[in-house]
Amino acid sequence: MSELLKGKRGLVMGVANDRSIAWGIAKALHEAGAELAFTYQGEAFGKRLEPLAASVGSDFMVDVDVTDDASLDAAFEQLGARWPTIDFVVHAIAFSDKSELTGRILNTSRDNFRNSLDISCYSFLDVARRAHPLMVENGGTLLTLTYDGSHRVVPNYNVMGVAKAALESATRYLANDLGPDGIRVNAVSPGPMKTLAGAAIGGARKTYKHTDTNAPLRSNATLEAVGGTAVYLVSDAGAFTTGEIIHVDGGYHVLGMPQYENL
Ligand code: NAD
Repeated sequence: MSELLKGKRGLVMGVANDRSIAWGIAKALHEAGAELAFTYQGEAFGKRLEPLAASVGSDFMVDVDVTDDASLDAAFEQLGARWPTIDFVVHAIAFSDKSELTGRILNTSRDNFRNSLDISCYSFLDVARRAHPLMVENGGTLLTLTYDGSHRVVPNYNVMGVAKAALESATRYLANDLGPDGIRVNAVSPGPMKTLAGAAIGGARKTYKHTDTNAPLRSNATLEAVGGTAVYLVSDAGAFTTGEIIHVDGGYHVLGMPQYENL
């Protein structure tokens, strides 16, 4: 085990199961020596999280729905009671009604637009505000997860692309706001991954196959690859990186067209 994160502790939000990106990050942070607390959404996910959290030495789990202020307040109150300061928060949370992650963006409803932006973007600001008092003494790192559908059109990604564009902008504004307090704010942008949220996007299988065969590294992102990037960003090795969107997509985002062999 490397000691890169020895003595650091923080909160991981968004583990639904052992394929969640948040879980890949949690494992890597733990292996680098960090102490972890978790939030989960509802009882069923809590049951799945329990053995995972235990396997990384954590008994700190709080039920949080990010649309519910009271649950967020309670989580940060409990966190502050356990640990007067924290070093990082990982925000790996997004949602849109599945029926609008297919077909035309023209059909986006006002309700789902509001809900998607609320859960997938506003929650990062909301979490940052609550984490701030726990980080302001020693500095820290806020980390969120985005996807390249934020600034390029990916079929069926629709309202989630708009939400990710807003989230990336929020990352930059937060980085500027919190920089004077020694708090760094970054987003990791993996290529498509086989998770619950990933599978909800129309045509997900085709997208996995397309990036797997066209990305310069000819592979989709792995939980280990995303975890490694998170370790770098949380550690002192990333001490001068903030406001950044870091791709972990095998280089897919640099392409202008598919590989010749796949045309
Ligand atoms: P996942 O389904 O494992 O995780 C999504 C998490 O969001 C779940 O734990 C779920 O409980 C949580 N969540 C949704 N609504 C919530 C709410 N109201 N309150 C609290 N939690 C809520 O899927 P994932 O792919 O690991 O997603 C994690 C992050 O990574 C998301 O931001 C997603 O957009 C992003 N991402 C995913 C991919 C991919 O292809 N899977 C690629 C790039 C970025």
